[in-house]
Amino acid sequence: MSEKNEQAIRPNERAVEMREATDAGLRFIGTIRTPWKGRDTCPRQGRLDGPECRLVLDPIWHAALDGLAEYERIEVLYWLDRSRRDLITQSPRSDGTTVGTFALRSPVRPNPIGTSLVRLVRIEAGEVVVCGLDCIDGTPLLDIKPDRCAFTPKAPPKPGTR
Ligand code: SAM
Repeated sequence: MSEKNEQAIRPNERAVEMREATDAGLRFIGTIRTPWKGRDTCPRQGRLDGPECRLVLDPIWHAALDGLAEYERIEVLYWLDRSRRDLITQSPRSDGTTVGTFALRSPVRPNPIGTSLVRLVRIEAGEVVVCGLDCIDGTPLLDIKPDRCAFTPKAPPKPGTR
């Protein structure tokens, strides 16, 4: 699908004239490598049994990964950089019925932040290997957090079970 078609509006969808940007000072901390080269092949939501993807961090952030390997599930935040940002209603089924942008997890939103709860597979040399993502190869990485519903690190192995 061409980039122009990806930005096209469907029947009954509405766009607004956006206000000038307020600079939130976001800093991309790395790049996400995935098997998907375009939106047409990318899953709508990731699956924990999906293919391995890599969070490739800028080396200045490598030390910030200390302790992360203790967690089985982590939250990944990313910038869905190929999205238009001005739609207030959307027609995800392309059937003319619309719903408000904030009632959707669509990548098309005023600030196109994607979030996924993923399975942490391993960490190797500043690269975090995960399963459960749903973004195009090269998507900018915003942040990584431990699963907010499970703050406790994995229980240490019971004596004698190793
Ligand atoms: N899991 C995230 C969430 O719920 O916040 C993102 C969900 S969003 C529905 C996932 C879709 O965004 C993919 O199927 C693909 O169509 C689109 N997408 C993936 N990477 C993108 C990118 N870099 N820019 C724009 N759209 C992207």
